[in-house]
Amino acid sequence: MKQVSVFTLALVALCHFGSAAQAPLSYTISFPKPSSHYVEVELNVAADAQDTVELRLPVWTPGSYLIREFSRNLDGMQANSMGAPLAVQQFEKNAWRLVKAPGAALQLRYRVYSKEFSVRTSFVDEERAALVGTTYLLFIPKYLQARHELTIQPYSKWKNVATALPQIGNNVWQLYANNYDELVDAPIEIGNFKSFSFEEAGVQHQVAMSGLDKFPEKELKRDMAKIVAVATDVFGHQPNQNYLFIVQHSLQGGGGLEHSASTTLQTRKTAYDTPKSYQDFMGLVAHEYFHLWNVKRLRPVALGPFDYNRENYTHNLWFSEGFTSYYDNLLLARTALMEEGDYLKVLSSGFEAVLGNKGDEVQSVAQSSLEAWIKFYLRNENSNNISVSYYRKGAMLGFVFDAALLAATEGAFGLDSVLKRMYHRYALGLNRGFTDAELCDEFRQHLGAEADSIFKHYIYGTRPIDFARFASYAGLVLEDTASRKPLAYFGAAWRKQADKQFITALREGSAAWEIGLQTDDVLLKVNGKAEKDFDAWLAQQQPGDKIKLKIWRRGEEITFEGKIGTYPAPRFYLYKQPDASAQQRLIYEKLVGYPF
Ligand SMILES: [Zn+2]
Repeated sequence: MKQVSVFTLALVALCHFGSAAQAPLSYTISFPKPSSHYVEVELNVAADAQDTVELRLPVWTPGSYLIREFSRNLDGMQANSMGAPLAVQQFEKNAWRLVKAPGAALQLRYRVYSKEFSVRTSFVDEERAALVGTTYLLFIPKYLQARHELTIQPYSKWKNVATALPQIGNNVWQLYANNYDELVDAPIEIGNFKSFSFEEAGVQHQVAMSGLDKFPEKELKRDMAKIVAVATDVFGHQPNQNYLFIVQHSLQGGGGLEHSASTTLQTRKTAYDTPKSYQDFMGLVAHEYFHLWNVKRLRPVALGPFDYNRENYTHNLWFSEGFTSYYDNLLLARTALMEEGDYLKVLSSGFEAVLGNKGDEVQSVAQSSLEAWIKFYLRNENSNNISVSYYRKGAMLGFVFDAALLAATEGAFGLDSVLKRMYHRYALGLNRGFTDAELCDEFRQHLGAEADSIFKHYIYGTRPIDFARFASYAGLVLEDTASRKPLAYFGAAWRKQADKQFITALREGSAAWEIGLQTDDVLLKVNGKAEKDFDAWLAQQQPGDKIKLKIWRRGEEITFEGKIGTYPAPRFYLYKQPDASAQQRLIYEKLVGYPF
């Protein structure tokens, strides 16, 4: 889909303004008292022949796989038609029905409480409105594919707006979308913020900097443009003419959410202050920008068009999120925004995290994707024992496939080529998502039986990945140094509060788990002494040492005795093999982005 941002006034007027037929749905949103956190919505439904009208509000925001029940924040619904009030009947948690005269227009009013400041929810206060369409824009199922219009009546103190929605005529406050999907795929930022722009890869990029007045504009422009260039190179095609970054600065930061022609990035106000935090921000830029292809267009069949009423299940978030995570670091290496040595450390710590996580033994990454709605997005103290991150393992599968493809094709055809081919085939050619079988076929074409093995054991199974083998294709040696100096490990995670230490999680099978400790246990004494910092004490011990703990649990003092265990994860050192062959050196350059 193509969208035009509000920043290209003349172009929009020429291309899109005209005698468009009246949209079936037009919304007017206002903020009479923003300190109350309400967005007020007036929805006009054009006259049509139907008598029964069904209206719904999404239960989730695409890109964030959790049922969020947005209708819990909606109240005050009233309807009018032909000058008289109409009864509105709510028949599901997020669905309403009303009966009007055939041929009559309809007007609805309601308001939505918006106080969750995140990239996937809406937030309104005196300073700004940050709006995500799924949280407050009702839809009529029969009109999902029709044009929608939106008029903003900003609060008196707000001066500017940023959104990827095209504007009607030259009025920045009047917007439209070709269908409901496009409408809610374009977040809207309203308030008083600075912005800058840059052109790269033939695309005009606008960056709205909300919540921060001073930032290194020159460096941001330069480095964001570099990321745009290398990301575009992967796919060999730019679907947008305009693209918008909404950057929301806050004290705590908060990640990003991808859209087709824009993204919302939440970061700390201090994000540009140190080289490391600046690099982290660039990683976020790379991640969300890469998504404009991978997941927004090149996507599993379940992820678009969306069902807004329920969970949308896919096995392939390891591809959509994991590969995007693989590339967010790789693009930094390719642009030298991350040094070679740091990138090798990212890889080796990624391998360690996958092989060291208990949950990777019991849940496959395909299952983790399917269950994202109830596990990855609903974590608790047992999550590390039973679940795997499709981000983390998916990123390392990106490395596995990239290395295997380059090795099988003597450096000619890596993961870039598979993604490019799939994007052109499924997104541009067929305009649909790919199936599980088609995804496997894409890899099988070059890897043959190895593709089937990777899918069977590493994606749909829980076999530990042999990272050393894939690293060796690029002349890299992956050495596990854990056995040289085994580290003491107990398996309890502690939280300190005032002068107390509580157990917040336990690794299944660890020493702490075996002797019967539980979460919420409070530490009283270790080997007869009060220890203020258990982890600092543990670092001085050896595997096999005896341990005696006095614990406070629900009003009782209990003593546990056992032995300290051994750190269960590998500790990798990844380095270049001095006698690497010419082919290994070639593969290294393609895989890592630096000369061997
Ligand atoms: Zn992502």
